[in-house]
Amino acid sequence: MRKAINKYRQQLKDYGLKMLADGLTTGTGGNLSLALRTEGIIVITPSGIDYDQISIDDISLIDFNGNHLEGEKPSSEWLLHLKLYNMRPDINAVVHTHSRFATTLALLQQPLPACHYLIGVAGCREIRVAPYATFGSKELADKTVAALGSADRCILMANHGLIAAGKDLSSAYDTALYIEEVAELYHRAKAIGEPVLLNDAEMEQALLRFQTYGRKAKE
Ligand SMILES: [Zn+2]
Repeated sequence: MRKAINKYRQQLKDYGLKMLADGLTTGTGGNLSLALRTEGIIVITPSGIDYDQISIDDISLIDFNGNHLEGEKPSSEWLLHLKLYNMRPDINAVVHTHSRFATTLALLQQPLPACHYLIGVAGCREIRVAPYATFGSKELADKTVAALGSADRCILMANHGLIAAGKDLSSAYDTALYIEEVAELYHRAKAIGEPVLLNDAEMEQALLRFQTYGRKAKE
């Protein structure tokens, strides 16, 4: 079991470095976690340590009641991760970032509309905005998880950032990355004109493709 848990700790560290390399975060910003449901353990990045300074032992382990088991103090948003796992059995990984273009929309409290079929990676037709609450608070966890609902896998957090969720870390990460990419394209398109949005039927087709073809649909 120890070996298996360390494998997941390493995975979180690797994806933390990937967040830096892909420009989704800087310094200690954002956080990542994995739920090991059979073991009853949540593996989560620690609070306030730069991603390139995190060691495997620093990565925090908490249980599904929020008790700290091992490692450094968990990320300040641990309550948000925990609440999401407890409310959504389909979710086993969570990625939270303040990536620039998605957060730009979050500052405007404007959703990211269906301007590109890739919105479908999040399982919805647009990326909505969850109401504002103080970072690290129970209120933020409650409001964000409620806004995400029962099926969506990504939401903007008002005046804060973005949260993406998935059945595993690579799908949660890809969602965060693709939604940031679409947010940037939307921003650029808005700078020179008014983007034409896909209609409900077109988005429905895209969503069906994502269900049927999975990753291949993104090619
Ligand atoms: Zn944050």
